[in-house]
Amino acid sequence: MDLQSGTLYWPTTVSKTPEYPELAEDLTCDALIIGGGSSGAQSAYRLAKQGLKVVVVDKRTIGGGSSSTNTALIQYAGDKSLTELTASFGEETAVRHLKLCEQAITDIEEACANIEDQADFIRRDSLYYASTEQDIPALKQEHAILTKHGFKVDYWDEKQITGLYPFRKAGALYYSNDAEMNPLKYIYGLFEQVESLGGKIYCNTEITDKTFEQDQAVFKTKNGHTITAKYVIMAAGYEQAEITPNKNATITSSYVVITKPVSDFTSWYKRALIWETARPYLYMRTTQDNRIIVGGMDQDTDQSLSRDAKIEQGRNMLMNAFHAMFPDIDAEPEYALGAFFAGTIDGLPMIGRNEEYPNCFYIMAYGDNGTVYNMNLSKIVTDVITKGESPDLDLYLRTKPKPLAKQAR
Ligand SMILES: Cc1cc2nc3c(=O)[nH]c(=O)nc-3n(C[C@H](O)[C@H](O)[C@H](O)COP(=O)(O)OP(=O)(O)OC[C@H]3O[C@@H](n4cnc5c(N)ncnc54)[C@H](O)[C@@H]3O)c2cc1C
Repeated sequence: MDLQSGTLYWPTTVSKTPEYPELAEDLTCDALIIGGGSSGAQSAYRLAKQGLKVVVVDKRTIGGGSSSTNTALIQYAGDKSLTELTASFGEETAVRHLKLCEQAITDIEEACANIEDQADFIRRDSLYYASTEQDIPALKQEHAILTKHGFKVDYWDEKQITGLYPFRKAGALYYSNDAEMNPLKYIYGLFEQVESLGGKIYCNTEITDKTFEQDQAVFKTKNGHTITAKYVIMAAGYEQAEITPNKNATITSSYVVITKPVSDFTSWYKRALIWETARPYLYMRTTQDNRIIVGGMDQDTDQSLSRDAKIEQGRNMLMNAFHAMFPDIDAEPEYALGAFFAGTIDGLPMIGRNEEYPNCFYIMAYGDNGTVYNMNLSKIVTDVITKGESPDLDLYLRTKPKPLAKQAR
């Protein structure tokens, strides 16, 4: 899958890109992690900390998948509101999911504490504004159910919004204590710790085949080597949907622009993360080096050619949308990209477990809060591996892949 194209910002923020070798021998380990993005990094880190002998492989460079285009707004509220999730799954399940996501932000913060520059993790509030007046009743309903369950969120009317921002919106939810970070520094930092705990990490190493035996799995790489493991976590990102197709998974295209550094954020109250009730939605945040990231303009295409043909248009539309909201901020675009983006129809991320070999798991952290979801799912899967169970597995284990044939792809 051609995950993304255009110009990427995060690689320019890293002083030294870590280098990893291509696998050149057969290996045996406790746990094989397929995929060196944030799902793989968090899983490998948690297992290595528990003393498991971990091997990580990625067919690209480490962090070279969707994690390198991640705009890294770290929020617990997602594409589907708590009200909508309650309608689909019931209040108890929906609230449990949101609480786990809220906790995952703290887990990410704790993981960042041991990483150089703390991976630029900063707590930020989020402003979620009503795109139209018609969205106000749903926003008020969402506020009521969130506060009922102890989430720290306020409802703001038009007067409160215009008192703090240069734009006019009829109403908004103001969430406290979300976050932003640098996703590439985060991944590199986690893998550095995995290595220091004895884990082995390989890039340019594609898994192409597998067989399951009584109590071990044997995965083959494109260059002819084997990795034998008791536990396997497939953290292949959006490409997992090709390996284990799932009707709940959706692929669309999304656009991002990153500006040159700007000098004055006075009109941007608390530099909060900003998004809206429209679907698809516009979103924006600031960065450690005073840039602005604006994303959205999602297109319903999974064709990279048609996605890439619109990068320039996407950049211009995103900048226009930004200037319409912050006419006082003089921002010029510097980086622009188009990327595939995976979501789920029902709004929850997914864990798969191989029916033939239950020690093989699939993490599909699809949705707008992918980083939070993959922390959440990594925790659950690694708890099942190291403790034998997780009380939250059933929440996400809703789609069991069919028994696999020999071909992994
Ligand atoms: C434009 C954009 C903006 C986003 N913004 C946000 C945001 O603001 N907040 C948020 O929380 N999330 C956001 N996300 C989602 C977030 O980026 C993803 O959820 C997250 O990066 C996925 O991490 P991952 O490790 O699962 O996937 P990836 O980072 O894609 O890693 C998977 C890796 O698996 C490797 N792989 C695949 N198949 C094989 C194989 N057969 N053998 C070996 N290796 C293989 C790939 O090369 C890849 O490196 C955004 C996504 C996009 C595209």
